[in-house]
Order: sequence, then structure tokens, then C-alpha cells
Amino acid sequence: MKYRTMPGSDEELSILGYGCMRLPTKVGGSASRLIDKDKALKQIRGAIDRGVNYIDTAYPYHLGASETFLGEYVLKDGYRDKVKLATKLPCISIRKKESIRETFTKQLKKLQTDYFDYYLLHSLDGQTWDRMLDLGIIQFMNEIKASGQVKKMGFSFHGKKEDFMRICDGYDFDFAQVQFNILDESFQAGIEGIEYAHQKGMGIIAMEPLRGGSLVGKIPLEVQKVYDESPIKRSPAEWALRWVWNHPAVTVVLSGMNVDEHIDENIKIASDALPGGLSDEDLSVISDVRDAYNKLLQVGCTGCAYCMPCPAGIDIPAAFKNLNNYYMFSKTRAKIFHAVYLGVQTEDGKAHFTDVCIDCGQCEDKCPQHIEVRQVFKQVQTDLEGPLIKGIATLGRVVLNRNQTIRK
Ligand code: SF4
Ligand code: SF4
Repeated sequence: MKYRTMPGSDEELSILGYGCMRLPTKVGGSASRLIDKDKALKQIRGAIDRGVNYIDTAYPYHLGASETFLGEYVLKDGYRDKVKLATKLPCISIRKKESIRETFTKQLKKLQTDYFDYYLLHSLDGQTWDRMLDLGIIQFMNEIKASGQVKKMGFSFHGKKEDFMRICDGYDFDFAQVQFNILDESFQAGIEGIEYAHQKGMGIIAMEPLRGGSLVGKIPLEVQKVYDESPIKRSPAEWALRWVWNHPAVTVVLSGMNVDEHIDENIKIASDALPGGLSDEDLSVISDVRDAYNKLLQVGCTGCAYCMPCPAGIDIPAAFKNLNNYYMFSKTRAKIFHAVYLGVQTEDGKAHFTDVCIDCGQCEDKCPQHIEVRQVFKQVQTDLEGPLIKGIATLGRVVLNRNQTIRK
């Protein structure tokens, strides 16, 4: 296992971190509460025994069961001291100041520990950050660091680049967790955000290096052809992981692992992946892979968000990303993401599918790619916005609202 130093400290972190959001489950899919405890325990401790020392979880993972499982099983028998433990405050569902401390205390209890090595504000975007500021998050972060209950403070991010920079500047964060993979070099924080945080002295935890498994699952034929024709033979997972580790600003790459062979492979790759370790020839293969994926794109949206805000509340970049993912990866997954991003997790909590467009045209005036947004919406509606997806979104909103009411 290779290790990299967390900037601003002498802490050596394994370059492969264990993400605990997709643990093996007995029934109910990868997000189920019903974790297959024997299997997961063996897998995580096995990885720790082979050098993994960064364990990442969060309040909502496995509907709350991930933290409990780690506290009750994995971190017993001396394993707590072998790892750096990271978990996250669920900012999306926090609406009251008191809930911050209550949730934090509950998390310490669930994980059966007195402190977190790494604590993150979960899934920030500009709006959530502003709300957390209003709820006094700066004072809270100062308190938990001063008390020693948190050693390093960070945030995970799913928003616009400029908000990423703003959040980096808004507190003396030790690290940030961002989505980064061969296809998302410019998405959300992107390489620009990563380098910005790095030059500020922050560590970078890279998430979704395999795009939730989509870069390694059923690979489009056009992409497979590039891999097959390359004189350098590596699995898609190895190409994707080595590309992320190639970036010197990246400290740890998280992988949500639940298959023994994948864990073995990832640990093997992590045994010799170095920053700047890829040759020009390697990078050219990855560039060809990226091009092959991009040819499958339906719309050339870069996710820059210059078209936003939309007066009808439509998340235009998200809609286009979902449309592209529908053609490049899993259709079902793209539809579910569309239901969540346009129908549930919206700024005002209401659905804003593309059919609420009021035809003002201002997005098209602002788009540097000259995309005919309203025209492409027709395809979005055909592929992604059927009655079933809208129904799932309605259900999602009901569940979310109910949970928030209960928390109040
Ligand atoms: S044309 Fe439609 S999508 Fe574009 S900004 Fe206006 S309301 Fe939003
Ligand atoms: S401005 Fe154009 S390229 Fe940028 S996010 Fe909007 S639609 Fe996509």
C-alpha cells in the first residue's frame, strides 16, 4: 500500500480509502439497511490488515446502518486505533441549529468513539453552505475542533465550481472531498477546484473514481475497442484508478467496495500507484477512452452552469448530464438520478422537470456551447421523464418531507 501525507500534518493516509456506502447487503440492494455483517466485516478488516487506514462513512449511508455497523463491529478489537475514521454531518436534512449538535453526538455514539479523525459537512453546494452558515456552523466547527472531538474538518461537495472555491475560502478547512474521475475532470469542483484547494494547503479525498461503478461495469463497445487496441493491458478499473492517483493533489481515493476480487485488485493497484506515474502513452489511451465516451454524448453540455439560474427552477446541467448518462451507462440509473435531482433534491423541495420550462430562452442566450436547450428538452422528456419517474419523485419528496418533519 502506498501512503500520501495529509497536507498540514504528518499523517500518512493510505491512497486507497474504504468507502462504506455500498457494503454488501443481504436483501434490498446496495443502499439497504440490511448489511451482510459477516461479509462486510471480513472485507473491511481484511483491507485494513492489508494497509488501508482511511475509513469513510456518513450519517445516511445504508439508511443510517453504516455508522452503526462500523461502531458495533468493524472498529472493535483494536481496529479503531488502526484507522483514521471519517464521517459526515447530513447538512441536507439539518434545518435547526440544535440539530447540528444532536446529530454529531448521535454519530459519536453510533460509531462508539470519542472523536472523529476526519469530519465533513456532507454534500455541500452553495445554497446548503449558506444555510449552514445561518445555522452557526462556523462556531460549531470551531468548538468541535477545539474540544478535540474532531481532528480535521472538511466538506464533501456536489455543486458549482465557483461555490466550491467560495466554501474553501469560507473556513479554514483541512480537506475537501470531491467527485473526480476520467469523465468528470471538469465537473463540479473539477481539476480547477482541486488545484485551488491544494494550493490553499488542503488535502483532497477523491470520490467516485469509477463513477459509481459505471466506468467498469457494462462498458460501451466503442470504449472497449480502445482498451482492446491499447498495447498496454490494464483493466478499466486500473486505468481509472491510476488516472486519479496520477494527480499529485489527490491524497486519498475512496472506493465503495463490496466484492472480494475488486478489493484485492484495488489494493494491488494501490501498492505502486504514484503521483505523476502515468506516461504520455498511458494518458493518450485515457484520452482516447474519454473521446469514445464523449462520442456517445447526446448533448455537448460541459456542466458550466452559465445558463443558471433558470426562472422555472430547472437544473439544466443536471438534466443534460442525466441524458448523456442514459446513453453512455445504465438507463435505469440515469432515470433514478433524474428523478432525484430534478424531482426531489431541488432548491425549494418541489419538482422542476423540464416540462415546466416557460420558454424564456435566456439559457440559450447564455450557453457558451450554443446548445438549443429547449429542443434538447424534448429528448429529455421522452427518455427520462415518464409517469413512473415522476411518480418515484413524488414518493421521494413525501419520504424526505416526512423525515424532516420527524427531525423537527
Ligand atoms: S428557456 Fe426554459 S430552461 Fe431556459 S431559462 Fe427559460 S425557463 Fe429555464
Ligand atoms: S450553459 Fe450550456 S454548457 Fe453550460 S451547463 Fe448550461 S447548457 Fe450546459
